[in-house]
Amino acid sequence: MAMLEFTDVDVHYGQVQALRGISLSVEEGEIVALLGNNGAGKSTTLSAASGLAHPSAGTITFNGKDISQGKPWDIVADGLVHVPEGRRIFSTLSVLENLQIGGFLVKDKTLINKRMKRVFELLPLLEQRKSQQGGTLSGGEQQMLAIGRALIAGPKMLMLDEPSMGLAPLIVTAVMEVIREVNEQGTTVLLVEQNARAALKVTHRGYVLENGVTTVTGTAAELINDPRIVEAYLGA
Ligand code: ATP
Repeated sequence: MAMLEFTDVDVHYGQVQALRGISLSVEEGEIVALLGNNGAGKSTTLSAASGLAHPSAGTITFNGKDISQGKPWDIVADGLVHVPEGRRIFSTLSVLENLQIGGFLVKDKTLINKRMKRVFELLPLLEQRKSQQGGTLSGGEQQMLAIGRALIAGPKMLMLDEPSMGLAPLIVTAVMEVIREVNEQGTTVLLVEQNARAALKVTHRGYVLENGVTTVTGTAAELINDPRIVEAYLGA
């Protein structure tokens, strides 16, 4: 059984149909990339899984449970956590306060402290900067904070929306390495990226989305060698 499974999912925003019968799956332990151009429906796919947009047709399951019409907070409590595009950190709150917000559904304080310790081991920078205001961090640091905050929620699966956006190449590499490490420590990852080259370095499998449907799917190696992908997403 797949950890996350979309079967023939449609999503509409009023008259606009953003997803047209999407089917995809993510197995436990994987990093799966969702690639595609602007407006292809990548963010909508994540929003549908996290309960921010509900399908008008089809089903979404997480660990076998139908979450198609689920509430965002219930889905987070089930272990599916979304890091939205643009990080959305709280700029006037400190790094530590931002991290604590990630634990808002977690009642057990010792569990939060344990996760905080793990986040600081993975991202030592956040510990060094814990009293700094979130909004004064660099773009890359804010992305690390957004990932750290999501980890405090204790995700079984993390969905990241364009973590490389607006970052310099070296910082993109650092963010991708953090994603790889999070995965190696046991968290499954669904990664939305326009930067296919960076994403395919760390992912196991991928899907290409065009106009609300998945058009190509394969292992990272298959996608890197697929002439359609090379031409459209990797540059000649
Ligand atoms: P990007 O990389 O630019 O974020 P994307 O692949 O994530 O693109 P989506 O943001 O999922 O694409 O958008 C898919 C389609 O749905 C687009 O045509 C977009 O204009 C439309 N759309 C997205 N959000 C809304 C909304 N809240 N209301 C109306 N239409 C929307």
